[in-house]
Amino acid sequence: MLQCTAVTEVPYAEALLALATMEGGPGRPPDALAPDEFLLCELGEHDESVQHAAHLWAADTPDDRDLWFLWSGTGAHRVHGLDTLSLCPALYRDLIAHTVSACAFFDHHPGPHSWAVTDPLGDLLTEHTHAEVRRLLSEGDPDEDGQR
Ligand SMILES: [Zn+2]
Ligand SMILES: [Zn+2]
Repeated sequence: MLQCTAVTEVPYAEALLALATMEGGPGRPPDALAPDEFLLCELGEHDESVQHAAHLWAADTPDDRDLWFLWSGTGAHRVHGLDTLSLCPALYRDLIAHTVSACAFFDHHPGPHSWAVTDPLGDLLTEHTHAEVRRLLSEGDPDEDGQR
């Protein structure tokens, strides 16, 4: 499933206040959020009955209640809210790679878990990084072979 493409402007003063008052929030909220920041919905594609959701801050608390920006509608018709929500407890076990990934969304989120949502831009960046790492590794080969 593809990622939802909704984007919205952050209500800056409101978001700073939420960051400043949340448990485990950033020490200096202005460092965590830029005034002109745009937020992307991170959920899988969904219909209008479901609110969009963008992750704002990973709380530094034992119970991991992160700050999310939730909204529906656009422009003057936007309805939004900031909420601290606990993490989705779902885990994905990759039996071939022997890795376990946690879902990046909040508990009781609509739609599929984060690993089932593809972000074309994110995938492109990951691919680029992998290519870069391969390039650096192959450049390092002569040293490992003792040719100096
Ligand atoms: Zn959305
Ligand atoms: Zn989930």
